[in-house]
Amino acid sequence: MSYFNYPERGVYHLPKKNILVLSCIDLRLTDNLLEFLHFDNLTNRYDHFALAGTSLMTQAENPKLTKLIDHKKLKAGIKSYKNWNEVWQDHVRIAIALHDIKDVYIIEHEDCGAYQNFLTEEALSVGEHACHVKFSIALAEEIHQFKVDKDTTVTLNVHCFLLDLRGNVEHLYSIP
Ligand SMILES: [Zn+2]
Repeated sequence: MSYFNYPERGVYHLPKKNILVLSCIDLRLTDNLLEFLHFDNLTNRYDHFALAGTSLMTQAENPKLTKLIDHKKLKAGIKSYKNWNEVWQDHVRIAIALHDIKDVYIIEHEDCGAYQNFLTEEALSVGEHACHVKFSIALAEEIHQFKVDKDTTVTLNVHCFLLDLRGNVEHLYSIP
């Protein structure tokens, strides 16, 4: 029995095959992240990729979201952020090729320094939570029909979550 609050059974389909996990690098929640993955019966069934801000920088150039970002601060803080989405997508390709992943977990977290530092005050005025929802859903929709190369598209189930600082997990979105 877990001490944590996790999404109810049936809120999303539990992955039966291998998955890819995208998380933030935040060291406060590493054990909580693993605990949740183990709870979902995913022990040693996931590739793990970490980017500061989880989905945030992958969507920095998304025309619908780019206005939420303080680009001056972002350029000063992270030199190569424009490459991050490509680096991430390369890893999705590798996970598909090596481990035939069918699902992706995008696991955002509360009190994320990247969100607090690189979003505009106006964007944050609706609360950090709402921003995690926007960015993670945008990434989920971007990779659901994933183009491996010009002739091949792979359908991935994508699930977005938010970890709070106590290790509880909220389900934000799933596609399909
Ligand atoms: Zn973070």
